[in-house]
Amino acid sequence: MPEGPEIRRAADTLETAIQGKPLTDVWFALPQLTGFAAGLVGQHVERIETRGKALLTHFSGGLTLYSHNQLYGVWRVVAAGESPQTNRVLRVRLQAADKAILLYSASDIAILTPEQLAQHPFLQRVGPDVLDMALTVEQVKARLLSPRFRRRQFSGLLLDQAFLAGLGNYLRVEILWQSGLAGQRNASQLTDTQLDVLANALLAIPRLSYQTRGVVDDNKHHGALFRFKVFHRAGDMCERCGGVIEKTTLSSRPFYWCPGCQR
Ligand SMILES: [Zn+2]
Repeated sequence: MPEGPEIRRAADTLETAIQGKPLTDVWFALPQLTGFAAGLVGQHVERIETRGKALLTHFSGGLTLYSHNQLYGVWRVVAAGESPQTNRVLRVRLQAADKAILLYSASDIAILTPEQLAQHPFLQRVGPDVLDMALTVEQVKARLLSPRFRRRQFSGLLLDQAFLAGLGNYLRVEILWQSGLAGQRNASQLTDTQLDVLANALLAIPRLSYQTRGVVDDNKHHGALFRFKVFHRAGDMCERCGGVIEKTTLSSRPFYWCPGCQR
């Protein structure tokens, strides 16, 4: 499953192809959306926002295309007019003079006004996105200490998109290793210094992974600068304490950690 950094990079690719260019052709498969297509021609995409696994394509006229890819949806960038050979079902086509972006297979798609966007059930449930550069360490710390989250075990909390969007399993284990914390702990047990370290890691590690373009391939989970310290490294030596990295299961997902220095 892609995590926030991979989803943000996919959104960057779409933005590069289409952002700021007048749309020359807009097409929607879903009958409830076809009525919007003509009105969007001539507008442009201002930006593509990510909220966890949801993509928000903001048009210059004020409407937003909401799409959530679940397991199957996939976006493609193609040359204008090109229709790739694929067995996937096309759902959305947004085309400018030179490029088009195509959404295949996703079924959770809507066009929303700003008011509808603010009330959208998924977006109301999901927390702030770790790759939203406006989100600060202080805000994350306050969220950790809020009554809703302060007693939640980190192993589950860090996978809960209602806490922070964009974290997944590899980020969960790397953030906890970096913070020197065991998965069973919770925020209410931490010192102020530990909270600062954790809040910082919750933003710094996803952002480093994003910026250094960590490889998504399951067999090569590290990029040039972002190297996994524990993920997929059971049996290796911990570079901080020399202990042996272990693999277990926590909150129903594989969990990697160093019992020597994560307390
Ligand atoms: Zn260690």
